Amino acid sequence: MSIKIGKLFGIEVRFHFSWFIIFALISWSLSINYLPGQYPNQSSSFYYVVGVISAAMLFFSVLLHEVAHSLESKKNNISVKGITLYFLGGVSEIEEEPKTANAELRIAAVGPLTSIILSAIFYLTYSLSTREPLWLTAVLQYSSYINLILAIFNLIPAFPMDGGRILRAIIWDRNKNLLSSTRTATQISKMFGYFFAGIGILDMLFLSGVDGLWLIIIGFYISNSAEQSLNETRVSHALAGVTVEEIMTKEVHTVESDLTLQQLSDYAFTKYKHHGFPVISGGELVGIVTDEDLRKRQPERWDELRVKDIMVPKEKLLTISSKDMAVDAFVKMSKNGIGRLPVVEQGKLIGIISRSDLTKIVQTKLLYKT
Ligand SMILES: [Zn+2]
Repeated sequence: MSIKIGKLFGIEVRFHFSWFIIFALISWSLSINYLPGQYPNQSSSFYYVVGVISAAMLFFSVLLHEVAHSLESKKNNISVKGITLYFLGGVSEIEEEPKTANAELRIAAVGPLTSIILSAIFYLTYSLSTREPLWLTAVLQYSSYINLILAIFNLIPAFPMDGGRILRAIIWDRNKNLLSSTRTATQISKMFGYFFAGIGILDMLFLSGVDGLWLIIIGFYISNSAEQSLNETRVSHALAGVTVEEIMTKEVHTVESDLTLQQLSDYAFTKYKHHGFPVISGGELVGIVTDEDLRKRQPERWDELRVKDIMVPKEKLLTISSKDMAVDAFVKMSKNGIGRLPVVEQGKLIGIISRSDLTKIVQTKLLYKT
């Protein structure tokens, strides 16, 4: 759901669709709230024009912050897929975790540092200017302010925000254990999250402040994303160096595309305890069918409908190669909310990898080494 707008320093930049809504909202709230408060007695066209330019400066600042992260990642030999500008911020799609505490520290710190430098540059230009024309003064002042906010917000020591990553890098540098330092950083992040939410609840109870609601949302967002990052680190740690080929199921139970749903239920789902099957026609993979697809159809129609009518067809199917890393399979499944991936080599189905294959590996590995 994002639009590619171009490349900056060889990094692809995309806009998520929510960005357009937020851009409009921010321009609007600046024009009717912030700017009239700061610069009274101006024309409404002044507020609207300055509002739009200021919102553009905010997004430009977020973009530079993300570019800084991406460039520093590349410098540390970590590939970057691209930058997506979102609702209230940006995300650099850095493909892997940094390999050393030092690299992590530099990659995380360079973002807030960029924002602080930008804030200082805008502030200096603002203070040295003659305050003419007024629209430029307003834009400079806002840009300086918003970059400072960006730096402070990102420095909150809550994982996976920059501040949390810096915290993890410092702990990691001391104990040399990525997993246990992620665990500690996650615990601290959750404490911060609950602290924010707690203040929010108190604010709503005793001061009946609407801002309290924001704090509660941010608080829960922080503790949730911290927990999620810990899980991701656990999994990628356990799956490091494992290829799809090593853990895929090679003996795949398949079903023919012209079986009726009744036959599918009797011969496949009842017999084998799998939740999904690759669908074959003329020896070729043509789709995948899951128990969920089956359950969506009324049992009265199970005799007339066929597997090919309800399967996810080949064109829409996500597959993986046996040479790919197991952690890529995990990412692909989580991102798309699916439970299994057919392993395909030159159009031929050679195996299947499921979420439970991955969980089994993660569990056994975590039992023996943490
Ligand atoms: Zn950042």
